[in-house]
Amino acid sequence: MIMIPKDIIEKIKEKNDIVEVISEYVNLQKVGSNYRGLCPFHLETSPSFYVSPTKNIYHCFGCGASGDVIKFVQQIENISYTEAIKKLGERVGITVNFTEEDETRSLYYSFYKQLHQEYIAVLGKSPNIVDYLKKRGFNEREISLYEFGFSPSNSQLPQKVAQRLQISKEMLEKFGFGHSDPFSGRVIIPIKDDYGRVIAFGGRVVGDGVPKYLNSQDTLMFKKTSTLFMLDSAKEYIKEIDYVIICEGYFDVLAFHRAGIKNAVATLGTALTKSHIYKLKKYTNNVILAFDSDSAGIKATLRNIETLLSEKFNVVVANFSKGKDADEVYFKFGSNGLLEALDNSESSEIFVVNVLSREYDLSNPNGVNTFLRNLAKWKNVFEFNPTALDNFYKRIASLLNSEKEVIKSRFSTITADSGKSTIYNAQIEERKVKIPKTEDYLVYIYFNYPDLFKTLDFSPDILEGKAREFFLIAKDLNVSLEQLSKDMGSFVKECLEKIDIEVDEKVLENIKKDLQIRKIEKRIAEIDELIKKSVSTDERNILLNARMELVKQKNMINKSSK
Ligand code: ZN
Repeated sequence: MIMIPKDIIEKIKEKNDIVEVISEYVNLQKVGSNYRGLCPFHLETSPSFYVSPTKNIYHCFGCGASGDVIKFVQQIENISYTEAIKKLGERVGITVNFTEEDETRSLYYSFYKQLHQEYIAVLGKSPNIVDYLKKRGFNEREISLYEFGFSPSNSQLPQKVAQRLQISKEMLEKFGFGHSDPFSGRVIIPIKDDYGRVIAFGGRVVGDGVPKYLNSQDTLMFKKTSTLFMLDSAKEYIKEIDYVIICEGYFDVLAFHRAGIKNAVATLGTALTKSHIYKLKKYTNNVILAFDSDSAGIKATLRNIETLLSEKFNVVVANFSKGKDADEVYFKFGSNGLLEALDNSESSEIFVVNVLSREYDLSNPNGVNTFLRNLAKWKNVFEFNPTALDNFYKRIASLLNSEKEVIKSRFSTITADSGKSTIYNAQIEERKVKIPKTEDYLVYIYFNYPDLFKTLDFSPDILEGKAREFFLIAKDLNVSLEQLSKDMGSFVKECLEKIDIEVDEKVLENIKKDLQIRKIEKRIAEIDELIKKSVSTDERNILLNARMELVKQKNMINKSSK
C-alpha cells in the first residue's frame, strides 16, 4: 500500500476550494450557507446535490454520493484516490509522486495483457469455437483483428498468470478474479480503456446458456459506468466525422466496425451515465442511438435520450426496421442494411412522440389526454432546443389531425408531473405538488442555515413522522450528511426538495409560532390525560385552570399570525 504524507493531503484539500472545484463540473446555486445543483452522478430534474463549504463536503440526497473534494474528483473523473490527489495537487501547484501506485497499475495492465494472450492461444487450439464464431459471420481475419479468445472449461488461467507475475491472492481479487475463472467456457472479448489497454473482459456463452453475456466485475481500473466499449479505436473517427453511434452490445458495435462504420461504441449493460457523456463530449456533441428495437431497447433509448439532452447533445435514433439489432441487420443485409438504418434515423423528438403514440388509443379523447400528459414531461426535455420543440409540436399535431398552435396551448394547461408514462417510468419519481410542513422547514434550515437553526427551541417529540426520529439523532450533535442511513437520507431529500426559498425573518417567525403552538398542544394533551386520572375536585380545578391558560396562549399566537 502506498502512503501519502497526511500533511500533503491536508494541504491539497485546504488549497482546493470545494465549491470552486465542483463548480468546474456542476452549476451551483447558493442556498443559505450551502450550495446546490443537479447531481452529476445521477439523473435528476430538481437539485438534490449539496455542497457545504464549511464542512468541506458534498452530498447527494438522490443517489447518496458524498465525500470530500478528493472523492468528488475521483468519482467524476473516474480515477483512483491517488490520481485524484495528484490532479488536485497540480491544480494548486503541489507536485506529488507515487511510484508504488504506478507499479500496481502497470502490474494490472501486464496481468490483463498476459491473460488475454492466454485466452487467444486457447481459441487458436479450439476449432469448434472458431467454427462457432464463423457461423456468427466472423471470418479468420476478423477473429484475429478483434482479438477474440476462449476460456477453457475449469480454467485456471487467471491464477496461472497471477502466479507467473507474483500477484498475491488479495491483489488478484482486486484485479477481479478469485479462485476460479468466471469466464470458463466462454468466448472472450477484450474490453479496453480509452488508450487501448485491456482492462476487463466480456464473455459470451457458446450456444444457449445464461447469462448470455458476462462482464468483468468492477475493479480498481475498470468501472462499467464509465467505460465505453471500442472507444479506444472509435475516438479518432468520432472526432473526425463529428458524431458517435452508441449501441447496446459487443456484437452490435462490432457489426458497425466490420461494416467500416468505425465511429461506434457500446455501453456495457448499463444506461448511459454522465461519466460516459463527459467522455464523449471531448469528441462530439452528436449522437445516433442504435439500441435494440425490442421494448427493453426502446426503454433504454428513451432514458438515454433524456440523459444526453440534459447535456445538450443532438440525438437521433437509428431505425432498425429490418432486424432486432445491428448484429442481426449486418448478418442479414451487410453494410447496406446498417447504412440504411442510419439513413432512416429519426430525430429524438419525433422518436419520442412516435413511441408514445403507439401506447394510446388516439381515436378516443381520454387516450389523447393521457398521451399529451405523458408528453408534457418531454416538452420540458426538448425545450432548450427551439427547432426540436417545434418539430415536437408539429409531429403531435399531425398525429392528432390538429394544428401546432392548438397543441402548444393545450400543453400550457398540463403540468409535466401530473401524468406518469406507462412505458417510461424508470428514474422518474412521482413528484406531486407537496406543500412543505414545519418538519420540512426544520430539516431545510438544519442543513442550510445552521446559525438560524440554533435559534429554534423545540423538543423532537412535538414533531411528526420521520422528522421526530431525525431530530432525535440530529438535534444536539452536528450530523454530517453522509452519516445518515439510506432511509433517513431519502426522507431528508424529500424535505429539501419541497422547499426552494431563502429563509428570512418572516419564514422563521412562522416556524417559531408553529413550534410554540405544538408545544402548547402537547402540554394540553398531557393535561387532558391528567384530568382523566385526577381523583380530587381540587386537583381537577387546578388542571382545568392551567388548561384554560394554555388555550388562551395558543389563541394569542394564532391571532398574531393573521
Ligand atoms: Zn446524485
